[in-house]
Amino acid sequence: VLTMMLSLAACTSGDSGKSGSASGGSKKDSKKVGIAMPTKDLQRWSEDGAYMKEAMEKAGYTVDIQYANNDIGVQASQIENMITGGCGILVIASIDGGALSEVLEKAKAADIPVIAYDRLIMNTDAVTYYATFDNEKIGIMQGQYIADKLDLEHQDGPFNIELFTGPTDDNNVNFYFGGAMSVLQKYVDEGKLVIQSGTEASLAACATPNWSTEEAQKRMENIITKSYTGGVKLDAVLSSNDSVANGITNALVAAGYTAEDFPIITGQDCEITSVRNMIKGLQSMSVFVDTRELANVTADMVESIMKGEEPEINNTKDYDNGTGIIPTYLCEPQVADIDNYKEVLIDSGYYTEDRLQ
Ligand code: BGC
Repeated sequence: VLTMMLSLAACTSGDSGKSGSASGGSKKDSKKVGIAMPTKDLQRWSEDGAYMKEAMEKAGYTVDIQYANNDIGVQASQIENMITGGCGILVIASIDGGALSEVLEKAKAADIPVIAYDRLIMNTDAVTYYATFDNEKIGIMQGQYIADKLDLEHQDGPFNIELFTGPTDDNNVNFYFGGAMSVLQKYVDEGKLVIQSGTEASLAACATPNWSTEEAQKRMENIITKSYTGGVKLDAVLSSNDSVANGITNALVAAGYTAEDFPIITGQDCEITSVRNMIKGLQSMSVFVDTRELANVTADMVESIMKGEEPEINNTKDYDNGTGIIPTYLCEPQVADIDNYKEVLIDSGYYTEDRLQ
């Protein structure tokens, strides 16, 4: 009750020097943070949200956290409510990085700092800072994993590969796909890797709307039917994340592939379904992005900004959102596969062993 009274008092008194009037007329509360997340459908975002909430509450903030069910309009109105509801700062993992300019104009007008979380928000100068993983490195890790497992430096193949990435409205995809192709393109050019489906090796041609498992599964089913019948072997599939990898795996299993003849498949997030598939031999690797770390980095950013200090950043060159470079903190990703998953995921306390069974 006391906490409630205190936070109520904070809400109504506009308790700090930073407070001002938000566009809805209510007072801005420098101890209230609005967190906008894309969807609960993916384990990744549920955990990001939970860790963020915990870290912010520990630091004495009240938290308004909203999930938008991957609906762009819903996310914009949730953000608008956070602004009128008096949030002193916003942390946003956008659904469509290009669709928030209008609502963020209001944040800017009310002097509310905006942190882009994991995905960069494009074409608005309302974004103050960006906290994410080294996205290009994630793509490079995926491409390099395929190159190493097929030993492309020494083997001529040719090996058959198919390419899958995420939606074009997620700026991260430029880095994931670009990073992976910075490793793989030369082998495609040399003829060591062959895209049997004939799909162009471009982001647009390899995109998966909404990072959808079902969309990836449909596309993989079509590719199998068209190009991998009559004994043509699929050697590798580049997938930028786990939800897409799961769709690819579903299609392959349905077509009769087993762990014995499964292609190399990459992923990202170390979601439980994918780690289980890894253990069963139905996905080769995933990139571990430790959401606890990203949440802590972001919470520290919030605190520094609200104290009027410069938050720690470690990249000032790679992330231009169309209005200029956004100062960024990049967390380190890590490769996880059957050989090291226990160390990376269990010893680090991220998962208990029983969750992976
Ligand atoms: C994130 C990935 C995630 C994907 C789907 C990307 O922006 O960086 O970690 O798998 O979105 O939600």
